[in-house]
Amino acid sequence: MTQILDGRRIAEAIRNDLLPAIQQLKQSGIIPGLAAVLVGDNAASEVYVRSKVKTCQALGLHSEHIVLDRSISEEALLERVAALNGDDTIDGILIQLPLPPQINAKRILEAVDPAKDVDGFHPVNVGRLCAGVPALEPCTPAGVIEMLERSKIEIAGRNAVVVGRSDIVGKPMALMLLHRSATVTICHSKTRDLPGACRQADLLIAAIGRPAMITGDYVGSGAVVIDVGMNRISDPEQARAVLGNWPEKQRELADKGFCLVGDVHAPSVQGRASHLTPVPGGVGPLTIAMLMHNTVKAARLRREKQGPGARGQGSGRDRVR
Ligand code: NDP
Repeated sequence: MTQILDGRRIAEAIRNDLLPAIQQLKQSGIIPGLAAVLVGDNAASEVYVRSKVKTCQALGLHSEHIVLDRSISEEALLERVAALNGDDTIDGILIQLPLPPQINAKRILEAVDPAKDVDGFHPVNVGRLCAGVPALEPCTPAGVIEMLERSKIEIAGRNAVVVGRSDIVGKPMALMLLHRSATVTICHSKTRDLPGACRQADLLIAAIGRPAMITGDYVGSGAVVIDVGMNRISDPEQARAVLGNWPEKQRELADKGFCLVGDVHAPSVQGRASHLTPVPGGVGPLTIAMLMHNTVKAARLRREKQGPGARGQGSGRDRVR
């Protein structure tokens, strides 16, 4: 019997656990603030940014939703980032990816003050994560760790296989598991015998971006399967190829004209896996909860660095390092 791990419930617990820290900061006159910067009008990005801003509001955090024209130049965007770096009402800066092609995303992410880098993408935070010292950590893999720990799933000593080596999910995921003493294998598009490698996993993390690719053949009996993938299917041909034996998603597609599936073919994994995350309602809500966690953490750490005299929201122009 496969246990379904409920990401929405765990995300709610993470948000509730933040409330005392938010209250404490408020008593010192500090309201943690997040600026979410969206360039252009990518529909999926708009949905993500709106739900992040809405979650801030629900927690009583300050938030700014900054929408910039998709034709903005790299220099103009760098100026906006510099202004946010210097704005004392803002503790966290989120640059929603992808950015339009005229902009070098790495240059923009490196321009964010590492103390406000709530996505954990700045090289300073990547280096700190790699070195195993406290850092602002990328939200999606940090959410997966929260899910495992809060579900009392053991990590130390277990074989963890991470499929995907991106900078935002796969690599930091592997590091976080390694720091918790898992034996970690990272797989990618050049891995030979991927199903065989995956079958060795006690903990299998799929972060690939290929709908329903991980079928029952990839899963050893009793493995914990975490599905990070988030794929929208609306094309009937693609649906025929990936939604075989998945009547629930076929119905969703027929009703709404699209359906969301992860990288795991859930029906063929159920019964083999001990635990499985659903899509939607698995890792996705945890990513947003961890963004809130990082915003509150950044607010606290910045004020600690400023020293005991730092209270309130300031003039909004003070440079904080
Ligand atoms: P990327 O496209 O950046 O990386 C995908 C990784 O998967 C690459 O390392 C690639 O290997 C590997 N890969 C691709 N095809 C295969 C294959 N056939 N066999 C083995 N490995 C393969 O994606 P992201 O890491 O950004 O995202 C992964 C998924 O997670 C996506 O579905 C994304 O939407 C989702 N996501 C969900 C989030 C959430 O909050 N739920 C947040 C972030 C992402 P190689 O390096 O060799 O090309």
